[in-house]
Amino acid sequence: MFALINLSYLTAAVFFILGIKGMTRPSTAVRGNQLAAIGMFVAVVAALLHHQIVGYSTIIAGMLLGGTIGVWLARRTAMTSMPELVASLNGIGGGASLTVAAGTWLTAVAAGGIQSTAWTLAIVVSVMIGAVTLSGSVVAVLKLKGTLGDSRHSRQWQAIALICLAAVIALSTVFVSSVTGSPGLMLGLVALCLLLGIGLVQPIGGADMPVVVALLNAYSGLAGAATGFVLENQGLIITGSLVGASGLILTAIMCKAMNRSLPNVLFGGVFGQTDQSGAAESGNEFYEGKVKYSTPDELALLLDGARNVVMVPGYGLAVAQAQHSVKELASQLESRGTTIRYAIHPVAGRMPGHMNVLLAEAEIPYDQLKDMDSINPELPQADVAIVLGANDVVNPAAAEDPGSPIYGMPILNVHKAKTVVVVKRSLSPGFSGIPNSLFIRDNSLMVKGDAKDVLQATTTALKEL
Ligand code: NDP
Repeated sequence: MFALINLSYLTAAVFFILGIKGMTRPSTAVRGNQLAAIGMFVAVVAALLHHQIVGYSTIIAGMLLGGTIGVWLARRTAMTSMPELVASLNGIGGGASLTVAAGTWLTAVAAGGIQSTAWTLAIVVSVMIGAVTLSGSVVAVLKLKGTLGDSRHSRQWQAIALICLAAVIALSTVFVSSVTGSPGLMLGLVALCLLLGIGLVQPIGGADMPVVVALLNAYSGLAGAATGFVLENQGLIITGSLVGASGLILTAIMCKAMNRSLPNVLFGGVFGQTDQSGAAESGNEFYEGKVKYSTPDELALLLDGARNVVMVPGYGLAVAQAQHSVKELASQLESRGTTIRYAIHPVAGRMPGHMNVLLAEAEIPYDQLKDMDSINPELPQADVAIVLGANDVVNPAAAEDPGSPIYGMPILNVHKAKTVVVVKRSLSPGFSGIPNSLFIRDNSLMVKGDAKDVLQATTTALKEL
């Protein structure tokens, strides 16, 4: 039976790897997801056959409780809150590793069955990464929600994190070298790691959040892999390692997208600000009398004469749920012979791949989606670039203003298009909280309003021309 279970875990791992490979391209992503789901099914069945499981009644009760909460959460979560849900799932993963490792250790202590230094080390690693992931994810969720938008006291939090890190290293060394540890040490370790998680994520803000979310995702996988060693469960070791490795690769991709190194993100202070009130105030002075406004009717006229149009989706497109409306306008333009492309910035929206998922929902052809590196050289030839609820990812200050908090972040060069039309509801800043010089460029027009309303009005006006 043991060999069969391990063979099943190996089979599941093959499905996971094929699944991840499928998810690297939009056209194969659905199939990849299905393969990964089959892998997970095989892994769950194999785990249920394991002779060491607690008992089926406990598992069924847990599945019912967890499943009910999961369905309730998924149903009440709006598409725009998906990033917070993903961040909370990272935290739940970390919390699960923490509780399983601590619980297994407590049970072993009670039974007098502590196995070895290596096993105690696996417990400590699992507890440490699990607790950091849990509290770090809670802070990330609050930041994504805007409840913890301000990154004040970042230096103090960095100092707290450093002190906690030193204490965690000292305490875990004592714990592992004593082999058996003690409940007091375990409690202290958990408390310090929870504080460490807060101290690590709290100072990071503004535009750096994509890196943090990807890193927490990697942590949740690494915590799971460590718990696999605690439980001696090969399936969990493989799955956790896959999540950890892919999370680290995603972190590297996000760092590259922000043109930042990981140590710089973690310890380099705040990149972008999230204090929206201050920014809005300074924004009013920044824009005063310099923004040229337009209307959907004028936009329709402009588009009527355009041959090459680039749509630039951002977080606001997701808020407006305007993915179907942009497709309708695009189809209308295509029927008149206009070439349409969509410029996708790697950190647009609030989670990696957010814009790809959103546009896929409206069945926008994948070949029209262009990443930053391939669309940027073509933007000067675009007759019109329509910025739909994007802000930070098109802010020229990132390329031109060394004093800007987002200086160095690669952007979509929409300001180089012949005409740029920005569709948004107000002059409010984006996630990083800073004004955008794109809105006051000579070649820039703003159509104020909800992205969906503006797109629908423009399509109607275009049809009447
Ligand atoms: P931004 O957050 O910079 O800007 C979004 C804009 O959308 C706002 O300026 C807002 O302006 C506008 N908007 C909101 N609702 C609507 C609506 N209904 N209709 C029209 N416009 C609307 O978004 P970007 O996508 O440009 O940039 C993403 C930012 O989020 C980056 O700073 C990135 O670092 C950060 N981030 C990204 C994550 C990721 O993984 N992708 C994770 C966490 C953070 P107004 O209110 O005036 O309408």
